[in-house]
Amino acid sequence: MIFPHDPISRYYLDVNSLNNPIKYSSIGTTPIDITVSVMTDIQEITQAILQFRDERDWAQFHTAKDISICLSVEASELLELFLWKKDEEVDRTKVPDELADVFYSAFLLAAHYGLDVKEIVLGKLEKNKEKYPVGKARGRKEKWDELG
Ligand SMILES: [Mg+2]
Repeated sequence: MIFPHDPISRYYLDVNSLNNPIKYSSIGTTPIDITVSVMTDIQEITQAILQFRDERDWAQFHTAKDISICLSVEASELLELFLWKKDEEVDRTKVPDELADVFYSAFLLAAHYGLDVKEIVLGKLEKNKEKYPVGKARGRKEKWDELG
């Protein structure tokens, strides 16, 4: 990636170090060595959640069991928005907060175990691609072991 703002030098982004502090180097006449830490959206979300937790000294309550229970409770609160309602009766304005609560718990559990959210989600998607090959699963709702 080229950043053409500098009339003397051009800088490139070392895309191989996206999980580390990103280094910028000069290509032009003025040598520079600047290191900039850039967080991914996932890292930013995780950091905000952990800061929220730590400011309240809640880590002492956050066992894997309790975070998992919290995740289930929050998922149930999301479900409750749809309980006994037709699609057109659902108050969609409440979905973002309840969905955010689910993400909060899920990100917290991932952080608890030191899991990389992107890695585990994309990894599981790859497994699901094998369980549900397009040729067998497209347009079908059966579970993977019932696809034949
Ligand atoms: Mg909730």
